[in-house]
Formats: sequence, structure tokens, C-alpha cells
Amino acid sequence: MYASDVIALAGNPNSGKTTAFNHYTGARQHVGNYPGITVEKKEGTAKLDGKNIILVDLPGTYSLTAYSLEEIVARKVLAEERPGAVIDVLNAGVLNRNLYLSVQLLELGMPIVLALNMMDEAESQGLKVNIKRLEELTGIKCFPCVARNGEGLEPALRAAVELAKETKGKGKPLEISYGTDLDLTLNDMTPLIEENKVLTDFYPARWVALKFLENDTEVIDRAKKANPQITEKLEGMVDKVTKHLKTTMDTYPEALIADYRYGWINSILKNGVIENQEEVFSRTDFSDKIDRVLTHRIVGPVILLLVLYCLYYVTIQIGAYPNDWVSAFFDWLSGLMGDLLENSPGIKSLVCDGIIAGVGGVLGFVPLIMIMFLFISILEDSGYMARVAYMMDRIFRIFGLHGASIMPFIISGGIAGGCAVPGVMATRTLRSPLERLATILTLPFMMCGAKIPVIMLFTSVFFEKHQALYMSLFTVAGWVVALLVALFLRHTIIPGKSTPFVMELPPYRMPVASGVVIHTWERTWQYIKKAGTVILAISILMWASMTYPSPSDEQEAQIHGQIEAIQANTALSDEEKEAQVAELENSDQSSHLANSYAGRLGRSLEPITKYAGFDWQTNIALIGGIMAKEVVLTTMGTAYSLGAVDEDDTTSLKDKVANDPHWNASPANTMAFLVFTLLYSPCFVTLLVIRQETGKWRWTFWSLFFNLGLAFVAAVIVKHLMT
Ligand code: GDP
Ligand code: MG
Repeated sequence: MYASDVIALAGNPNSGKTTAFNHYTGARQHVGNYPGITVEKKEGTAKLDGKNIILVDLPGTYSLTAYSLEEIVARKVLAEERPGAVIDVLNAGVLNRNLYLSVQLLELGMPIVLALNMMDEAESQGLKVNIKRLEELTGIKCFPCVARNGEGLEPALRAAVELAKETKGKGKPLEISYGTDLDLTLNDMTPLIEENKVLTDFYPARWVALKFLENDTEVIDRAKKANPQITEKLEGMVDKVTKHLKTTMDTYPEALIADYRYGWINSILKNGVIENQEEVFSRTDFSDKIDRVLTHRIVGPVILLLVLYCLYYVTIQIGAYPNDWVSAFFDWLSGLMGDLLENSPGIKSLVCDGIIAGVGGVLGFVPLIMIMFLFISILEDSGYMARVAYMMDRIFRIFGLHGASIMPFIISGGIAGGCAVPGVMATRTLRSPLERLATILTLPFMMCGAKIPVIMLFTSVFFEKHQALYMSLFTVAGWVVALLVALFLRHTIIPGKSTPFVMELPPYRMPVASGVVIHTWERTWQYIKKAGTVILAISILMWASMTYPSPSDEQEAQIHGQIEAIQANTALSDEEKEAQVAELENSDQSSHLANSYAGRLGRSLEPITKYAGFDWQTNIALIGGIMAKEVVLTTMGTAYSLGAVDEDDTTSLKDKVANDPHWNASPANTMAFLVFTLLYSPCFVTLLVIRQETGKWRWTFWSLFFNLGLAFVAAVIVKHLMT
């Protein structure tokens, strides 16, 4: 069975697959320079000549052997969902390397067309590709493309659709020679596989034989399950030739297979496809020169820290103004709604104290977040993030993590403003389960987008002069803790050595303005959407828990009596009366909050949390924050709103925090609170994703309680060092 109207996009990481996919489908998808960010399979619909075509964006891979999870995913989709044809996206500048995957697609019997992408770059480097010649020699249709502006993409898709129709999704598998020894073995193995139908429902027989020779554990395991005896026989044949190769040539089948594939490719390229191959290799000169500085052992990290600092500095400098405007808007809105709902105090409280004071606080950060994401997008699209990963790799190995752990860290907010949920999912690229687990358990310490508004607000009040510095320090502190915890884990509950990792650095590229704008907007929109849905719902819940139970009739009557007594007291002037009534109402409101469900919980924890300097109001906010970190801020907004009767209540949350004696009494309280916020339990969704990705509740509970304990200890230490 094959799906005639499905076309898959395959290619090496960074070949421009996602860019092409976006162009075809118009789907907004993240385009970045992390090798392997597309772990998830992406689908979209393209329109061609009035017909709908389903496109699948496969994970970027260099090969189709089970060396990485991406490769397993890619070939699973190809073999089991059988797209009608594949558009193989190649970086025309490094054809020889990129064709390695094409060879394997051909061996798999996939009908393919080649999209020779990045023709603009290739041409500006003086590279000349003779497309006609390439088509002649390979028998495949080839199309020069510039995915960035869509050039050449349509003809490639049309050709793929036609090819799918012609071949019905099945081409004749390419059979290249692997030298006498291997060829003979392949000739013995193939009929055996064919007759016994070992995985032949999915793959060509010779391909299965090749995987046996390449020692592809996934294929061999599956074969073993389906047909143990034949598998044993096949493995015997592999053993024999392996020993023979070892003694005669001091090599092994895998290496030989790769050599022959490259041989096949080079023979084509040298046969008039590319005349100036040597020149091509100097193309990376420019990137190399920059890299000598940016990834230098000492200079590199210093620059990285400067970049981080500048990111926050500029964000804060530019972002402060629009942020104040948005806050002013919510204050105005709150006043307006207050007037409109004057007659129904319950609803008024929900709208003003619960929703506007809560969600408004998070939305107030939208301009700032947007500016920050703009910088992040530029860093990513230019290729700098890949350098960050490259530099970190050296450090990571010392702490028992894998080089591929860095991408998940960065996605989780390693530089700023990510999210641990996609971060945890991105760990799927890690093949070693222990390294993967260590990564999953440590990436929640990063500065995710939800912690940013909380830490931003408090640093803007209490560390205003050096806010960017503090933000950078918190970000770095997240890394330090993550690495130390990883080291601890790798020496205790998940011990083991880290495995080596090779990473290719993509060349630097000038970010495209439209791309940067789209990425910035996508992320900002995510933030807004979350505030308008999840955070809104939780805010209402928190408001309710802080409002109920309502005071009893007796209490109401008592307060009422006291007010009447003040009013009736002729010894007082009108002003004095007013002041006393206000004071009475205020203390009534705060005792009501203290007696609410949330208040009781917060107070019951105070005997412990006081060591970290958290009062019961802070406790409520932090408990709410386990649902989503933004809720720390929304809960505070609600608590301040509920806890005091300010008729014309137009002071912003920032001013309220600034005037609260609990915070301004000592910077120790603020610092301990922020350290705790940075480190404590991952949010609810992250906890669920940890369960999903590790398959065990145990790790969810570990993250919840270990991080909570760690954060608390850190907060207590900070509190005591600073007072
Ligand atoms: P993927 O990893 O294969 O999905 O690659 P992406 O689509 O994410 O592209 C990687 C980088 O190459 C991005 O920065 C793109 O903007 C850039 N890019 C994609 N196509 C072209 C092209 O035709 N020319 C140039 N100069 N850059 C391109
Ligand atoms: Mg991609």
C-alpha cells in the first residue's frame, strides 16, 4: 500500500527542508539552525494546479541507518507510510555529502526527485552544477532551487507528483557494487531474505541484507522477532565476511559500504557534474574565520556571556516604554470594568481582581517578550545558536551529558524564553537512555518564558540599576545548577560515561527579515495564547481559592456594626471617620484573604517557608506557579487586589510590590524568592511530558520533589547569606 497523494521531504539537517516545506504549505513552522530540531514529523497541505497534496517534512538525517532516532523515524515513515515520492532537498554547495542520503533513498527503492537547494549561495561561490549531466548519470529529475524565495520549488513538486503517479510509489531499488567480497555475500543473503520474507513487506531484500552488514540493530532485532532461525543464518554469513574483511583488508563492512557509496557519488560528480570541486571547499572560509573567534576556547564563552547580557540589556531598555503603556491600559480597563460592574460586587471582583489583575500582569510583558524573541530569532537564524551548542558540547561532556543535550537545553530557555515542554520532547534525538534521562531531569532549570515575567518584574523593582546583569546571572545560575545536578545524577542514580558526538556547524547566514518576523510573532503569539487560555483558567481558579469561603453572616454583621459605631461616634471628624472605616475594611479584606482556602494553605506552610523568607501570600503564589510559572505573577496581582480596598485602584503591580514592606524590607527576601522561582518544580505540563517521555511516573515525582527540595535549600541559603 502506498499513499499516492503524499510527498515526503527528505534531506540532511540544514539543507533547507523546512524552508521549502513552509513555502509549499504556508504552514508556520519553526525554522532554525539546530541540526535536528525537526524530530517530530510535520505534515502540511500544498496546492498544486488546483489539487491538494499532502507534504511530510521528515527529520533531517545524514543517512538511513539506525544511528539516531531521526534516522529511525525518517525511514519508518518512508517504509511504512509509503509516500508516493520523495523530494530530496540537497545543499548544492556540498553535493557530495548530501548525495549520501540520496543513494540510500534510491537503495530503498523510493521514487525521488532532487531539489538542489541553496543555489544562490552555490552560485555566488562560483560553483557550477551541470544539472543535465547529473540527470543523465543518475536518471533522476533534478531542480535547481532557492527555497528561501521559493525559486524552483514548484517544478520539483510537480515532478514528484508525476513520478508518484508513474511509479505508484515504488521505484526500482538502486544496486551499487560494494566490491567482490560484499557483493558475493549480498548475493547469498538476498534470496534467503526474499524467500523467507524477512521484513520484505517494508524493505527491498537487498536493502535488508545491507542493514545486516551495517550492523543495524533495529533491523536485526525486528528480523529476529519475525524469523529467528533465518536471522541466525544471516548473522552467520555476516560474521564470516566480517572476519574475512578484517584479516584481508583490516576493515569492516560498515566502513566499506560507506566508502563505496561515496565512490559512487564522486564518480558521478567528477564526471562533468561539477568541474570546480576544489573551489567549492573554500566556501566555508568565511564562516571558518568567524568561528576562529566566536568558538575560541576562551574568547568564545566570553562573547557568549556578552551576547546574553546585551540581549537582556537591549530588551529591557527598549521594552520598558511599551510595557508601561500596556500596564497603563490594563489599569484603565480595570477602572472602567470596576465602574461598569459596580452593582454586582462578586463579578466585579472576578473580573478586576481575578482576571485583569492576574492575566493583565502577564500580558503586560508582551512587548518585552516580543523584543526578546526578536533577538533570539536573529541569533538562531544567523547560525549563532549552533555555535553556542558547539561550545557547550565541550563543557557538557565533563558533566556527563551528551553534546546533543544542548539543543533541548536551549529550546527550554538556555539563552532565554524557551519552554521545557518542547525541550523534553527534543531529547528524543539522544540515543543513550541514561544521557537522555539526565537531560530531561535537568533542563527545567533553564530560564523559560514563563519565569521571565516573574523575574523581570522583581528585578526591575529591586535591582533596577543592574537589571540586565541580574537577568544574565539568573540565566547562568540555571545552567550551573543544571550541570551540577547532572553531574550528581550521573554519579548516583543514573551512572555512566557520556558518549561522543560529532556536530556539524552550518555556515553563517544573514537572517531573512521576513523569517525573523514570523518566528518572533509565532513565539509571541504562543505566549499571548497561553495567557488567554491556560493562565486565564488557572487565574480564575486561584481567584476563587483566594475568595472563598465567603465570610459568614456573623462576621459581616460584626464588621457592619463596627462601621456603624464609627459613623455614630460624634467625637470624630468626617475625615477621621473615613480613615477609620477604610482601615477597618482593609484589615477585614486581608483577614478574609487569610481565611480563604488558599490563604489557609499558605499560612499552614509558613512555619517552614519562613526560613526562606516566604510569607503566606508568597506561598500561595508559588503553589499556583506549579500549574504554570506565570501564575506566580497573576496570583500576586490577584492577592494584592483582593487584599486591599483601594477604591480608585490604579497602582500597577510593580508599584504594589515596590511598596510592600515584605519585599522592600530586605533584598534577601526578593533574592531567595527569585532563586526559588528559577529552580523549583517544573510546571504541570512539563511534569506530564516527563512522564510521557520517560514512560515512568517515578521521574515526574523525582522532578517535582527533588527540584522543590533543591530550590528550597538554595532559597534558605540565599536568605541567610544576605541577611
Ligand atoms: P532544514 O534543517 O533542512 O529544515 O533547514 P531549514 O529550512 O531550517 O534551513 C536552514 C537555513 O538555511 C535557514 O537559515 C534558511 O533560511 C536557510 N536557507 C534555506 N534555503 C535557502 C536557500 O535557498 N538559500 C539560502 N541562502 N539559504 C537558505
Ligand atoms: Mg527543519
